[in-house]
Amino acid sequence: MKNLPRILVVEDEPSIAELIAVNLRHGGFEVVLAQDSVSAQAALDAVLPDAILLDWMLPGQSGLALARHWRQQPRTRAVPILMLTARGDEPDKVAGLDAGADDYITKPFSTQELLARIRAVLRRRAPESVNDSVRVGALVLDAGTHRIAFEGQQLKLGPTEFKLLHYLMKHVERVHSRSTLLDKVWGDHVFIEERTVDVHVKRLREALGPAGAMVETVRGAGYRLTASTVSGSGTGTRAAQFGQ
Ligand code: CA
Repeated sequence: MKNLPRILVVEDEPSIAELIAVNLRHGGFEVVLAQDSVSAQAALDAVLPDAILLDWMLPGQSGLALARHWRQQPRTRAVPILMLTARGDEPDKVAGLDAGADDYITKPFSTQELLARIRAVLRRRAPESVNDSVRVGALVLDAGTHRIAFEGQQLKLGPTEFKLLHYLMKHVERVHSRSTLLDKVWGDHVFIEERTVDVHVKRLREALGPAGAMVETVRGAGYRLTASTVSGSGTGTRAAQFGQ
């Protein structure tokens, strides 16, 4: 039984799309090509891919708008998105990550880098262990069902934030440096900058809402998840003051 990981490639430039498709197929992936937002949506509706390679500059709806849209849809929320961008500017990279992309790759890129990054997002998506449930204070994460709840309220997280939170919850109260987090959460950080961690921590805090305060910045050291800072809404959790 052959079950190759399926990658949806959204790219309007035929020569680039074809080049990517050839390389991905050679690398052991099944490739579905789409040249604009309409055909990309049709492909997604037909079969959910394992990952999406999404060009930033597309005719009609931009890759950025598409990433944001797909992150908000229950069906596509957990599908890793890798943005393709011709821009090397840091604000644009951060904008892509903020829109919900899990990673970005700047054109021109090598085949080796492209394959490495796709494998990295696929690895990240895979849960560490199947029926693993972790609780820290009023925050509960169930890796089996990919559900997170705080004080009984369901929370919605992207795949990278989920994995990051899972790791932090399993190693609660400990300080983790950015490079440790890249190593443990991203797994393959050869091409990923440490700043990426900051962006995902910011997104994690936002997604956690009131529980976001549990993710602390430890100046000069990294990040820590703590049970002791939640300003509770009457659930008996200990409240504490902290800087930011
Ligand atoms: Ca393009």
